[in-house]
Amino acid sequence: MGEYTLRCAGCGSLLSDGATSCPLDSGLPRAEYTERRFKPRELPGIWSFIDWLPVDGWNPSTGASSVTYRSSGLAADLDLERLYISFSGYWPERGALMRTCSFKELEAAPTMQMLLDRKTEEILVVASAGNTARAFAEVCSVTGQPVILFVPVSSLDRLWTTVEPGRVLVVGVKGDYADAIKLAGVLSSRSGFRPEGGARNIARRDGMGTVLLDHVRRFDSLPDHYFQAIGSGTGGIAVWEASMRVIGDGRFGERLPRLHLAQNIPCAPVHAMWHGMSQEEMNFDAYGCPEGMHDDVLFNRNPPYAVPGGVRDAVISSSGRIYGIDNTRAASAQRLFERSEGIDILPAAAVAVAALIDAVESGFVGRDDEILLNVTGGGVKRLAEDHSRMRLKCDLRLGLEDSVDVLLEEILA
Ligand SMILES: *Cc1c(COP(=O)(O)O)cnc(C)c1O
Repeated sequence: MGEYTLRCAGCGSLLSDGATSCPLDSGLPRAEYTERRFKPRELPGIWSFIDWLPVDGWNPSTGASSVTYRSSGLAADLDLERLYISFSGYWPERGALMRTCSFKELEAAPTMQMLLDRKTEEILVVASAGNTARAFAEVCSVTGQPVILFVPVSSLDRLWTTVEPGRVLVVGVKGDYADAIKLAGVLSSRSGFRPEGGARNIARRDGMGTVLLDHVRRFDSLPDHYFQAIGSGTGGIAVWEASMRVIGDGRFGERLPRLHLAQNIPCAPVHAMWHGMSQEEMNFDAYGCPEGMHDDVLFNRNPPYAVPGGVRDAVISSSGRIYGIDNTRAASAQRLFERSEGIDILPAAAVAVAALIDAVESGFVGRDDEILLNVTGGGVKRLAEDHSRMRLKCDLRLGLEDSVDVLLEEILA
């Protein structure tokens, strides 16, 4: 099990158990695991990396892992020798069994296990534009733990489970993802509730970091490059941190994989900040964001960009790049991927594929480099062949002008 101490990624102070912030600066809390060697255990799914997850126990009914395989189809199209694909989603022919079809499941399983280990009575509160809420709804329905989901009304159709829904309360937010975050924040500050924590949640980051660990386990080396589509960038931070742990083992060299993180322009705050755009230039409302995006799960107005241990630190320290991908490029990358690899993918993942194509065309990656492409979601169509989906009903609609007391009454009723 993962024994660890918690340290601030900014000033390095030791933090108290369970802390989500540092009293001295805005740095992300980071787990420092006692086990320094990389030695996966004989356990199912992500639990085989339990020494580097902030959990004591594990649940055999949750924790499906990503699957990493060597590409032949897309690799041939792009003329790459060593292209590896990490697939998070449903594709049983490859061993991928995430029924909510995105890598947010890598976050939900360890987060719920951590809460179980802590024997807390608090109810978890999650704000999401869709994929995170779906992952938590499914995992909590399996484990029987309660959860409250805040989801923009326009994203409610993304909510479904493949098992009988458990103690899942759905709040439809009249507004966008940022409004859902605000309302969830109000509720989770009340006693008896607990925020999921976003990038500050170490279970979320270390769960997502298993994408990199699965690659190392299967292919015995760290990739030279890592490609991912980002909204908040938490997955990028997670892979950076997992890489540092692998380097700390001593057997896998000293070089960090270069992070190639991609956003969907023009709704691309991380891309804008990376290029030093001014506040005026970052007027996303003028573009009507997130409407019209190839995938709006990639739009986050307040990404953990400049905080110590955040996206900027991760990209700079790995000599990485940030890409801006428009809808046309994302759509053609999606067609290319689905044809060459033979599986449907979520539109967000296509943004990463487009960044890889851009990097190949621009010569940022070499033909013989070891490349890990994170296909963060897919297999929704494939899932429909094997499992029926149950739509989650919206229990209550709230706007920013409403008081969460209405919600509390609903919960107590
Ligand atoms: C959330 C999400 C992303 C972006 O993840 P980050 O948290 O920004 O790293 C990419 N793809 C899919 C399918 C997602 O659900």
